[in-house]
Amino acid sequence: MQYRKVKATGDPVSILGYGGMRFPVTAGKIDEEKATELLKKAIEAGVNYIDTAYFYHNGQSELFLGKFLSAGYRDQVKIATKMPPWSVHKKSDLSLIFEDQIRKLKVDVIDYYLLHALNRETWAKFNAFETLPFLTNLKKEQKIAHVGFSFHGDRALFKEVIDAYPWDFCQIQYNILDELNQAGKEGLEYAASKGVAVFVMEPLRGGSLVKNLPQQVQDAYQTFDAERSPAEWALRWIWNHPGVTMILSGMTEDQHLQDNLLYAQRSGMNVMSHEELQVVSSVKAIYQSLQKVPCTGCQYCMPCPFGVDMPRCFDLYNSVFLLNQKNMKGFYWLQLGGANGTPSYASLCKNCGKCLEHCPQSIDIPKELLKVKAYMETPLMKPVIAGTKVLLKAQKLFARPKKNGSRDSV
Ligand code: SF4
Ligand code: SF4
Repeated sequence: MQYRKVKATGDPVSILGYGGMRFPVTAGKIDEEKATELLKKAIEAGVNYIDTAYFYHNGQSELFLGKFLSAGYRDQVKIATKMPPWSVHKKSDLSLIFEDQIRKLKVDVIDYYLLHALNRETWAKFNAFETLPFLTNLKKEQKIAHVGFSFHGDRALFKEVIDAYPWDFCQIQYNILDELNQAGKEGLEYAASKGVAVFVMEPLRGGSLVKNLPQQVQDAYQTFDAERSPAEWALRWIWNHPGVTMILSGMTEDQHLQDNLLYAQRSGMNVMSHEELQVVSSVKAIYQSLQKVPCTGCQYCMPCPFGVDMPRCFDLYNSVFLLNQKNMKGFYWLQLGGANGTPSYASLCKNCGKCLEHCPQSIDIPKELLKVKAYMETPLMKPVIAGTKVLLKAQKLFARPKKNGSRDSV
């Protein structure tokens, strides 16, 4: 296993981290026997970082990891978990949740602690509850060793967050298709230039970079090397970036683990040849040619005075055609519908024209939004959003951490 150091502390972490979000599941629960076997094999092969979160597997992931660690593995791995913005309703919830996490994980110190899923709303919420001083105190008290955040917002916010605190690390979505989305390559390089370690999540974009590939993409990969899998191309390209410290991968099957270990062993920083990089560029170009709207996700058009998230609308709309993902409509409803925040879907556009002058791709944004609306916003959308709102409200009521430290229901 290769290791890269977290610049702020010199802590060496394996370039392949274990993403606990996709532990194997049987009958709706973590298959503990299978997950334990996978973790043992990963650790034997040198993986030294396991990532989880308060919400993963309905709160069972931290409990399972606590059991696993206390069976003799605590000293062999770094453990990461996250503060969920959705469960924080007042400042005192921060310490209640943190103490619950320590109890579930059965540890005295959490090695890597993140603010979960930062975007404009969650960042504002964490700031309103003075979460950054809270993290500083935890670090002073040696209850956490490294402080970081996971991110799903826009690039301008990413830089703002990076500059707001002496973070040790951050976790971003980054892959062949997201070079210009969210934090993107620019954000990655910005964080690295500030000495913040970058851990990459969604390296295969939830599997969409390895399943149902357009024929042209398969041809481009195979012409270069018939043996190399699309997964290896995708991971190798990320590890090639000097600013990347680790890739987190959710490995549900033994084959996933064995493949990823092999890919990690064959990878490196700046090892891809000019020809290999050309292959990846041509794959990106193929994906771009298949998109309906030539949006690069640069976000220069933002913000919209009526709340439309144009880059996200185009990204999800494009994904239907690029990745043959029909379920993107559901994602679109849930992510942009406002069930858990402010709505930002295409039909909120009032055709004011403010965004038009900012688009370097000269996209007729309001016109394209009409197409997004027509395709993505079917009559089911509003009832689904209303139902999700009710469910989330009920979940929040049950998810509040209890003062006596007893396990919450999430
Ligand atoms: S044209 Fe539509 S998307 Fe663009 S700024 Fe105006 S309302 Fe927003
Ligand atoms: S400015 Fe144009 S290319 Fe950039 S995100 Fe907006 S629509 Fe997409």
